[in-house]
Amino acid sequence: MHQEIAGVYTFLTLGLRVLRKIEDIIRQEIEAIGGQEILMPAMTPKKVWQTTDRWDTFDALFRFEGMGNKEYALGATHEEIVTPLAQDYTFSYKDLPFSVFQIQNKFRNEPRAKSGLLRGREFSMKDLYSFHATQEDLDEFYETMKEGYLKIFERLGFDTEITYTTYASGGAFSKFSHEYQVLHDVGEDTIFACDKCKLAVNKEIIDEQSTCPGCDRKDLAEMKGIEVGNIFKLGTKFSEAFGFKVSDESGNTNAVLMGCYGIGPSRIMGALVEVFNDENGIIWPKAVSPYQVHLVSLGKEEKVVEAADKLYDKLEKAGFEVLYDDRDKQAGVKLADADLIGIPVRLVISNRTLEAGSVEWKERDQKETENVKLTEIEKKIKVYYS
Ligand code: ATP
Ligand code: MG
Repeated sequence: MHQEIAGVYTFLTLGLRVLRKIEDIIRQEIEAIGGQEILMPAMTPKKVWQTTDRWDTFDALFRFEGMGNKEYALGATHEEIVTPLAQDYTFSYKDLPFSVFQIQNKFRNEPRAKSGLLRGREFSMKDLYSFHATQEDLDEFYETMKEGYLKIFERLGFDTEITYTTYASGGAFSKFSHEYQVLHDVGEDTIFACDKCKLAVNKEIIDEQSTCPGCDRKDLAEMKGIEVGNIFKLGTKFSEAFGFKVSDESGNTNAVLMGCYGIGPSRIMGALVEVFNDENGIIWPKAVSPYQVHLVSLGKEEKVVEAADKLYDKLEKAGFEVLYDDRDKQAGVKLADADLIGIPVRLVISNRTLEAGSVEWKERDQKETENVKLTEIEKKIKVYYS
């Protein structure tokens, strides 16, 4: 990462590969639930924000002026764009339900942007919006999303042990919304967690002794969490504002029911680093590591260079993602960089290993190394990643 200003970052080559992998996992799971990907603009007109009364009340909105004194806001969330968009394509209750999502940068004038990727002013979000004719249909889809979210976080590397579905305030249309909190001391949220049910209640919404929403126990532990996702039943709040109505089977006209479902890929990247590290650097979970294998050549001898080049070509051809460190640097520097970058498998090739026709294999989260025959290496990587 390279910080440009507080809360705004450039993703460099390795970091960008992680971000893309996080996004891909989210995209796969959301598409499996039926979400259709779109891409809405980041530049949005004042008018739609006035329609929902949010132009003056949304504190974090970045507002700006263009040609001819026209005013705009940078997208902080997209209900104001997606609601009239969906309205343009929905002609009757028979067109419902459907859901659309995007993965795009959001802009929010956060008062405190101090925790790196965890709280940016420009940050990545997957936001999905669902549209329904009936409350039962919205409720059912919402439950499907809850399951989908847990699957996403597990695939990303957050153990089910530390991922809590958390009850938070819901607004006018439902008692609760649900946040997905990953337990960690750097988290900004305080939650009361039930380690048996993996459910929690956000401290912000309760003013008395909290109870587990699953098993009713009262001795919940007060913990810190990082909010990595948030799902919400919007009800008819936005459809009413835009007059988005459809008629039902009996010819009655009703406002469309909506839900919104957010996940923060860049915050997730920051959270993964907070959870998975040691004193030497990052330890990426397999699914999101920038590369699968970090190949390090030690020594300038022709024999080493040739063997390392050959191994790199072979692994690339076999379809593995390989970061090849063939820099003319001291062994200590190269090995320290490998630990810092945190790719799960490190392969070292040197004169010493070549004498036995092998490479040295080390897993980032293990202390021991082992020598693996050059002829066996492909198979071993395949097994490790299967
Ligand atoms: P928070 O309570 O942390 O301010 P939020 O409730 O305003 O977040 P949502 O509007 O629900 O967040 O956004 C959906 C998701 O986008 C969040 O769950 C989080 O993962 C991510 N996100 C929100 N704000 C930021 C930010 N400033 N930087 C990085 N990610 C963010
Ligand atoms: Mg929140």
